[in-house]
Amino acid sequence: MDGQPIYQFIHDSLPGQARLNEPMKFHTTWRIGGPADVLVEPVNMENLRLTLDLVRKHNLPLTVIGNGSNILVRDGGIRGVVLKIGARFSKVTAENNKITAGGGTKLVRLVNVALSKGIGGFEFLAGIPGTVGGAVVMNAGVNGAAICDVLEYALLIDLSGETIMRTSEELGFGYRMSNLQGASLIVLEACCLGVSGEKKDIQKRIEEILEKRKNTQPATSASAGSVFKNPPGSSAGFLIEQAGGKGLRIGDAIVSTVHSNFIVNLGKATAREVLDLIEKVKELVIQRFAIELTLEVKILGEDHVGGDIMWKGL
Ligand SMILES: Cc1cc2nc3c(=O)[nH]c(=O)nc-3n(C[C@H](O)[C@H](O)[C@H](O)COP(=O)(O)OP(=O)(O)OC[C@H]3O[C@@H](n4cnc5c(N)ncnc54)[C@H](O)[C@@H]3O)c2cc1C
Repeated sequence: MDGQPIYQFIHDSLPGQARLNEPMKFHTTWRIGGPADVLVEPVNMENLRLTLDLVRKHNLPLTVIGNGSNILVRDGGIRGVVLKIGARFSKVTAENNKITAGGGTKLVRLVNVALSKGIGGFEFLAGIPGTVGGAVVMNAGVNGAAICDVLEYALLIDLSGETIMRTSEELGFGYRMSNLQGASLIVLEACCLGVSGEKKDIQKRIEEILEKRKNTQPATSASAGSVFKNPPGSSAGFLIEQAGGKGLRIGDAIVSTVHSNFIVNLGKATAREVLDLIEKVKELVIQRFAIELTLEVKILGEDHVGGDIMWKGL
């Protein structure tokens, strides 16, 4: 294919940081997803800028991911460059109840740093398996609390390599929403403000939250958390269960019997199976309640490798 020499060039320009035809199932908590043309996990700013430079100069499609805990990658994979903001962008500093964390910082670490410094207000993030970058983009949260409540500002970088600071107010936050979704901006850092608290109280709240998750979610199974957003005044899990969706299975994809808004990969589920199950669940809820559920998870990539090109020949 036309694109391959450039992907090889990217691979060779970023030693040890780029993988060609990388199966995305290795980078998603659903453990599903076909190959990315090239997946780059830069080790520092210089290499991140180099990646962006190549993307811009060669007009390549760019997809940014964190821990892949809120995405479904289709079976044909992702064309272009997948940029993974990971552990090398996870510097955390804490001072005066303020925590500044790199975009690749796992939320579990943010929660633990807050605890160790006696900073409260981050407990609600316990058990969410994403990164700070993914959490800002998705406005991650639970039970009415969300990262927008503690975020002061985010440091972003655009395709031209320019860094931009956006305050929380400028990020258009809503329920699992921010104006970074679909924007070509990468979260490099987030600065959050908590409140001082007693470590033992913070610890207790974290333990309660984790215990609740353990009892109400299939936390150790391969999933992407809640598949659908809760419709106003209701719970998607409740609606799915009442509509008879609980335990529904297509291939190796199953609506969790623990939490009906989770779809679990029993081992070899394909994205096609998950997508068909999503459609089936949506139909059931429409038939029973006349409510159209909307997706919380983001669907990326294409059904077939070289998708569009294959169809042109038919
Ligand atoms: C068991 C389980 C429980 C969960 N519980 C919750 C919950 O309680 N509340 C909740 O809100 N979510 C929950 N989730 C979903 C998920 O963990 C969150 O949405 C999380 O914030 C996603 O972060 P991520 O790094 O995995 O992002 P990804 O899934 O990798 O990406 C999500 C989106 O963010 C973008 N993105 C990621 N990183 C960056 C970056 N650095 N710069 C720019 N864009 C970026 C991607 O392009 C994509 O659009 C759960 C998931 C699982 C598997």
